Amino acid sequence: MLLLKRDSYDGEGIESAVAAIFEYFGGIENFVSPGSRVLLKVNLVAGHRPDRRVTTDPSVVRAAARLVLDAGGHPVIADSPGIDGFARAAQKAGFMDVAGELGIPCVELTDPVPLPVAPDASFHKIEVARRVLESDLIINLPKMKTHAQMLLTLGVKNMFGCVVAQRKAEWHYNVGLRREVFASLLLDIWNGIRSACGAGILTIMDGVIGMDGFGPTGGNPFPYGVVAGATDALTMDFRLCRMMGVRLEDYPLWQAAALRHMPQCDPDEGDLAGDFSAEHVWKGLDIPRLDSLSVLPVLSRLPFGKILEQALTSRPVHLPDRCVGCGKCAGMCRAGAIALRGTTLSFDYGKCIRCYCCHEMCPANAIEFRDGLLRKAMKFLRK
Ligand code: SF4
Ligand code: SF4
Repeated sequence: MLLLKRDSYDGEGIESAVAAIFEYFGGIENFVSPGSRVLLKVNLVAGHRPDRRVTTDPSVVRAAARLVLDAGGHPVIADSPGIDGFARAAQKAGFMDVAGELGIPCVELTDPVPLPVAPDASFHKIEVARRVLESDLIINLPKMKTHAQMLLTLGVKNMFGCVVAQRKAEWHYNVGLRREVFASLLLDIWNGIRSACGAGILTIMDGVIGMDGFGPTGGNPFPYGVVAGATDALTMDFRLCRMMGVRLEDYPLWQAAALRHMPQCDPDEGDLAGDFSAEHVWKGLDIPRLDSLSVLPVLSRLPFGKILEQALTSRPVHLPDRCVGCGKCAGMCRAGAIALRGTTLSFDYGKCIRCYCCHEMCPANAIEFRDGLLRKAMKFLRK
């Protein structure tokens, strides 16, 4: 993998970084032939301006699209935001402007079809957007962020956006509280898509200014100063995890991969090139420290285990001063745990599965967390 130092989106630095990533992996002709259908999978979790650092910066998307066009390919900018209307979200994030400038489509991922998965996959009824499976190459363009539920959202997690719209929330609901199970789903999606697409997935990570704290939407901008490129996003995620100061053992994605004995779990120090050493660590990062039920796997088998789980985990709470009454949280909560009247919101914690989607999708940062008993105990023990 290649890590290049870039501190700004201005000037030609982004274009040169994206070009250098293609060169590092043998040149763009290794990936794109004349007529190739290339899907640029941006991070459009919801409609935010680029300076919020929630979505992939348009300069990264533009640079990748231009190279594909120069090679004779047909790039399409695409994603499926969790809740906001696609056109408005893509406009706000600057993707529509890039598409207009280059004369290429910017489209919502729709039309779910079954994803072929390996026999040893954990999930066998995954559906992703048809356009994803009909592409010759996916250029995966994630934003480098921390994540309130999954600790980090990097290359592999960005492919979850290939699951169409509200079906994402259904997965959160079906998989429930267990992060390592959700991480296992992410592995199946990433594995399945990279096997299905002819030239696979090339990941180009926008970490120039990413996010820390309560990502993927409610955190703060953080200047990682990096553009990263990898043909194996899982290896990249694990290396970046360590460089973000997080122990691999604490990362749900690593836990899921370790259960499958995946070779990427032990990143090879020899495969790193560019401007950062393997020992580099970004200092001062605010990593969300939520309680993890993976330390208590027997809970769900106990009588009253579900009640116990819910008491132990952090719960969403409403901040009415910030609420604009848009109703997005209630509209997307698959558990039916949110009742909203104007800007007055109440949670049914008996129904709430702690998927944190409402927090993720709230455009006003009006949903935060109140520590559960497990988190309180961990804080107490750390004193
Ligand atoms: S209330 Fe929020 S955290 Fe609870 S199930 Fe609904 S969307 Fe998920
Ligand atoms: S809490 Fe957030 S998502 Fe829910 S109604 Fe208020 S502003 Fe909208």
